[in-house]
Amino acid sequence: MTATRWLAEYAWLPAHAAPTPDVLIETVNGRITGVTPLTPGGDPDAGVDVLADAVRLPGLTLPGLADAHSHAFHRALRGRTHGGRGDFWSWRDQMYAVTGRLDPDTYLALARAVYAEMALAGITCVGEFHYLHHGPGGTPYADPNAMGAALVEAAAQAGIRLTLLDTCYLTAGVDGAPLVGPQERFGDGDAQRWAERAAAFTTDRERARVGAAVHSVRAVPADQLATVADWARRRDAPLHVHLSEQPAENDACRAVYGLTPTGLLAEHGVLGPATTAVHATHPTSADVTLLGESRTGVCLCPTTERDLADGLGPARRMADAGIPLSLGSDSHAVIDPFEEARAMELDERLRTRRRGHFAPAELLTAATEAGHAALGWTDAGRLAVGDRADLVTVRLDSVRTAGVVPAGVWFAAGAADVTQVVVDGRVLVRDGRHVRVDVPRELATAIAEVTGAQ
Ligand SMILES: [Zn+2]
Repeated sequence: MTATRWLAEYAWLPAHAAPTPDVLIETVNGRITGVTPLTPGGDPDAGVDVLADAVRLPGLTLPGLADAHSHAFHRALRGRTHGGRGDFWSWRDQMYAVTGRLDPDTYLALARAVYAEMALAGITCVGEFHYLHHGPGGTPYADPNAMGAALVEAAAQAGIRLTLLDTCYLTAGVDGAPLVGPQERFGDGDAQRWAERAAAFTTDRERARVGAAVHSVRAVPADQLATVADWARRRDAPLHVHLSEQPAENDACRAVYGLTPTGLLAEHGVLGPATTAVHATHPTSADVTLLGESRTGVCLCPTTERDLADGLGPARRMADAGIPLSLGSDSHAVIDPFEEARAMELDERLRTRRRGHFAPAELLTAATEAGHAALGWTDAGRLAVGDRADLVTVRLDSVRTAGVVPAGVWFAAGAADVTQVVVDGRVLVRDGRHVRVDVPRELATAIAEVTGAQ
């Protein structure tokens, strides 16, 4: 039995508007067994002397952060495409070029480094939206799930939990055009064959789980959507889908089906409480109602949406409609959950020219509990008895955070302010360093390998 007592200078407890000072957090075998504010309204030093054995956590301790939408290999494009002109579609061509150099070995090395970068940023669980399934030309590997297995192994080596969102990707457009060139590696032929391949993949559910994804209405014909949705429902697994990231997708969907993408997904049983729509940048008012009434979640990816010139999704309107909001770093233009979280609020300010749309505790929920729930982990993302012992400590004495009130970290801190990360009771990041991965060196090596750069 591994029991540890942690003494957090501040900890952000569930349903609290702001952090609580001097909280004793007890963990046994990877679970939280006690959360005790030591001095409610009293002397903050009282009682501390008897806790000589407790591990001190200076700063603010948060629950584990969840990155609900990742394409690990996009990390190789960081800083290589951002200075150029173009839009989502021209960026996508550059992204496809990287896929040509990925195989199970190079992807394991790259994803291990990316997931370790996430750990340094306080991310303890990632949702990998995985569609690069097959070898060149679409030829399956000897193990047809070799690429997914590489991602699961990468997360295990990096020390974070993963939900592999095995993605059905069949066509190049809403008109049913066939996959060509780099896209051939994404396809399984039809949804039934996707389902059979995905069903053959199993994991140790303590550390990694398998969910499903519809890449988008561009990539899965309407008459095959229900196959993917049923697969997820039968397994009680999360189901994700890219939705209305671009107005062009809405226009094409209306032209072919006479429905918005959201309307089409609703008609084919894709929406529901286990479903997360990624982006939802350009929904109609009726779409927001459909998503809210079905309790479908939305994963915002603000740093990617700004980088790709996608636009601003109606975050507050969606939250008011009852849609749980989570956050993802998607293309990994940056990996910084604090930047994603504050963008929920700051983007609303840009749109409305008013401040104060999301309370700091709502940003916390999106970055933690809602993200874990969207990935199928209902026992993580809160500092609560019975939950997984994931503790993310943010320093309050850096050049960015000195003098900041603890609730203000969402607007002041960055990934570099995360000093310690505990996952399932084990220290993974100590003094801002990953305990077993030299993250910058492994990123540089892995990215050189897949971009051909020296
Ligand atoms: Zn995506």
